[in-house]
Amino acid sequence: STSTPELNLSTSDTLFTRAKEHIPGGVNSPVRAFRAVGGHPVFMQSAKGAWLTDVDGNRYLDFINSWGPMILGHAPEIVLEAVHKAIPSSLSFGAPTRREVEMAELIKLMVPSIEKVRLVNSGTEATMSAIRVARGYTGRNKMIKFEGCYHGHGDAFLIAAGSGALTLGTPDSPGVTAGVAQDTLTVPYNDLAAVKQVIEANKDQVAALILEPVVGNMGLVAPAAGYLQGLRDLCTEHGIVLIFDEVMTGFRLARGGAQELYGITPDMTTLGKIIGGGMPVGAYGGRRDIMECVAPAGKVYQAGTLSGNPIATAAGIAQLTYLQEHPELYTDLDRITTRIADGTRQIAAELGLHYTVNQVGSMFSVFFTAEPVHNLEDAKKSDTEAFGRYFRAMLNRGIYLAPAQYEALFVSTAMTDDLVDMYLTACRESMREAHGL
Ligand code: PMP
Repeated sequence: STSTPELNLSTSDTLFTRAKEHIPGGVNSPVRAFRAVGGHPVFMQSAKGAWLTDVDGNRYLDFINSWGPMILGHAPEIVLEAVHKAIPSSLSFGAPTRREVEMAELIKLMVPSIEKVRLVNSGTEATMSAIRVARGYTGRNKMIKFEGCYHGHGDAFLIAAGSGALTLGTPDSPGVTAGVAQDTLTVPYNDLAAVKQVIEANKDQVAALILEPVVGNMGLVAPAAGYLQGLRDLCTEHGIVLIFDEVMTGFRLARGGAQELYGITPDMTTLGKIIGGGMPVGAYGGRRDIMECVAPAGKVYQAGTLSGNPIATAAGIAQLTYLQEHPELYTDLDRITTRIADGTRQIAAELGLHYTVNQVGSMFSVFFTAEPVHNLEDAKKSDTEAFGRYFRAMLNRGIYLAPAQYEALFVSTAMTDDLVDMYLTACRESMREAHGL
């Protein structure tokens, strides 16, 4: 077995001790804690391209990419330049700007199902607002979501939620009232019959069905053949607003997101991450008649002091424009991520582990189980102890993975074949170390 010496993380450890004194759990978002894998979080100093540098000077090949936004790698010149150019004109007006119009036009161009769009400041705001609009539009109260899908931390979504809520074992969060919970119906992912049953048991009461069309938040799980079309048909038949939460998949799996990749048109779409290029931005949009319900055009209230922020739109426009003008990068991302996924699968097989590696485009997950993973129940069969050992072994070798089994990994255009070779070497050593092979 090959093991490497532990990294020097002394500055990170000191900062974490201070952080715990002042910030709940020492982090500003639970997924950043290393609870699921052991050890302390690494505090970052800077990043460029595919590489992160921490406060102790250690360097890591980054497979998180800020949980999705950095599709062009860290600190791409075109985005930095746009931000630099925007800064001297003031950081916020609280009044309309030209860039908000340009951003809306760009989003519509790339995601044609969106006829009108509203900018917000996070993915959480986008999904919370979309559900309110769907309820206002239909005059119905209930919503269907899927076990293991995460849609931000809005009350109504913290029922059988994925990501950090899953890893920390608090899917039903204290503070969410029974009144809110009773309007959220949850069903297993990739099971059309289950959805049908719930819709029929709640006839004319379901306002919206929301899902990640490709799930990132229970680890990467792809929709089964015909599943998305089946959901589309059910929603059309029952007058339910179909919402694709493309906060992760938007502008990543294709320019037009998962809906373009699978050829399914939702009624509404929620966006985040990539549209801000790393700045705090979200958006929700969809059919004109639905979006006309939003204030001040309509009666469903939703607002934001910093929404459409001039710096955020500068970064977002720069990144989206680049993606729009370089469609070939999606083919490249797919090829290089397939190399990573295939290579990992092969290493696990050679070691007799036969782990399941799911991949769609530039997103992938290595599940520490030999069974196929189609839903949350499958994902939970993973050996999370072994995953934790693997995570630490990879970190020691300068590979920065998500510190939890139930997360997707993101590949950026800064990933090269040489870096994939480096990853695969570390993967083989770490798999052996994690399993004592
Ligand atoms: N929806 C999905 C699919 C997400 O992955 C996330 C965040 N990971 C959110 C919504 C919430 O976005 P934010 O963290 O920006 O509030």
